[in-house]
Amino acid sequence: MAHEILMLGTGNAFLPHGRHHSFCCIDRKHIIDAPPTALASLRRAGIPISDIETIFVTHVHGDHVFGFPFLLLERRYISDREMVKPLTIVGSKLVKERLWQLCQLAYPGSLEEIFQTINWVEESSGIVNEWTFERFKVLHDASVDPHGYRLEHSSGANLVHSGDTGPCEMLYQAIERSRIAIIEMGIPEWVPSEEHHKPSHIESLSQRVPDTKLLLTHTFLDMEDSEFEVLMSNQYPIFPNNVTHAYDGISLLWDGNNWN
Ligand SMILES: [Zn+2]
Repeated sequence: MAHEILMLGTGNAFLPHGRHHSFCCIDRKHIIDAPPTALASLRRAGIPISDIETIFVTHVHGDHVFGFPFLLLERRYISDREMVKPLTIVGSKLVKERLWQLCQLAYPGSLEEIFQTINWVEESSGIVNEWTFERFKVLHDASVDPHGYRLEHSSGANLVHSGDTGPCEMLYQAIERSRIAIIEMGIPEWVPSEEHHKPSHIESLSQRVPDTKLLLTHTFLDMEDSEFEVLMSNQYPIFPNNVTHAYDGISLLWDGNNWN
């Protein structure tokens, strides 16, 4: 069975030039997080909003969930007026609370009805829409309930999504038994934080998992062809061959054994 990983956005919270917020879409119907640029990203890719069946939420920082009310509003008034297209949201208990708060803030009175139709999955493992998922804790601001995911389809296709995190043994063990990791590289070397990956962390990880592809997202790097003054950096670190700097629109296909 063919599968697709499509990166609809690849930037960190600050939107480096040429990038939307980090945003991953699987098989054009499952998304990971709902960043502020989510609606723009889905429109740009021509993916109907009501085609989205599953949202896996990693944590509740603004750059990961503040786009949610716009997705729900679009479904309610444009692409799913009858409210018959199923939507499942996978996330911790805090996720449901926060998404409800966001909808109440953004469009009071407009989203209550469709919000009630959402299928919530709060368990940390299970099967949703043919994908077996595991959600595990990662190292990031504890107040936003940070997690990563490992997904595996009955066809054998599998992947890890790091969410936002610094180096994390649980994450790395999940990556070791997967064909690809979509992993954040949120900060440059000089930022004093242990809650994101830096280039040196990616270098070490790439040597630990030489047979796993690492697709870098949530990056601080401007696109190289940007015409604007450099925001944080456009100096691309050179990594081993198993590492790819993702860009908005990059897609990988499952060939039965690997993502290419
Ligand atoms: Zn975060």
